[in-house]
Amino acid sequence: MSPIIFAVEPFGGSVRDHNPNLPLVFWDDAAVTRGDGVFETLLLRDGRICNLDRHVSRFLASAKLLDLPEPNIDGWLKATIMAAEKWRSHTTDDASCVWMYTRGRETTGIPSAWLTIRPLSPTALHQRAHGVAVMTSPRGYHIDPPETTEAVPWLVVGAKTLNYAANMAALRWARAHGFDDVIYTNGDIVLEGATSTVITVRGKKIRTPTAGGDILPGTTQAALFEYATEQKWRCKEKQLVLDDLFRADSVWLVSSVRIAARVTRINDQELPAPANEAEIRELIEAALTSNLTNHP
Ligand code: PLP
Repeated sequence: MSPIIFAVEPFGGSVRDHNPNLPLVFWDDAAVTRGDGVFETLLLRDGRICNLDRHVSRFLASAKLLDLPEPNIDGWLKATIMAAEKWRSHTTDDASCVWMYTRGRETTGIPSAWLTIRPLSPTALHQRAHGVAVMTSPRGYHIDPPETTEAVPWLVVGAKTLNYAANMAALRWARAHGFDDVIYTNGDIVLEGATSTVITVRGKKIRTPTAGGDILPGTTQAALFEYATEQKWRCKEKQLVLDDLFRADSVWLVSSVRIAARVTRINDQELPAPANEAEIRELIEAALTSNLTNHP
């Protein structure tokens, strides 16, 4: 199915259904020339957006960190509802909805804003079902809050920026060496996946590395912790070291669209499937879809 694209007026006003066969972004857009902008990737399930409030909050926070004009959320929601309805008229399959908000054209200074809805990639579906072999790797730099952030106050840590070239390079490297994904580490300390949050499960305890510094606060992890806590799981953000991954009953990479991919191997060490694999998967899915009804 061809992608659905809606252009959003950054300061309010009309929302335009855009023909995906026609160009959309100009040659001098900051997203193209500098990777300067922010985005959100949201899951569309049964034609409805999952975990919307958390995505809206992070989108607003990301734009603020980059000194972009405050996104006109009503416009974004209107476009999302229209695009989701169009998707739902074709299929109820899961889809990936991406909000893109850039600093815009150098010649106009007006931000560019659009959203897309596309089917999930076969890779994402395969990894949901079969898990991922991961390679650990340093990120190549490290941000230690609050010291580093005080020394370089312009850092945009915590923002979901369009600057993913290094993450994509790490993934290409991993794939070329027989892995599906990457977990960034700082020495022994576990950070995050290249496009996901790391979760461990041991007994009734669920853990994730504390967000902040160079660990993006994940919306999927936040939804999981809220929902699982209600279901009597003990959830905590804390510093994790590599040994914690090997000691866990199971390790997961969670993110909005792939939802949850179980880590089946870390470097050369296999991680056997836990007895409660299906239960954990259902818990994460339920956390994401439990708050669908009030939203578009
Ligand atoms: N960390 C990074 C670097 C990511 O790119 C993502 C997802 O895009 C996540 C974590 C998980 O975030 P979310 O659960 O909001 O999709």
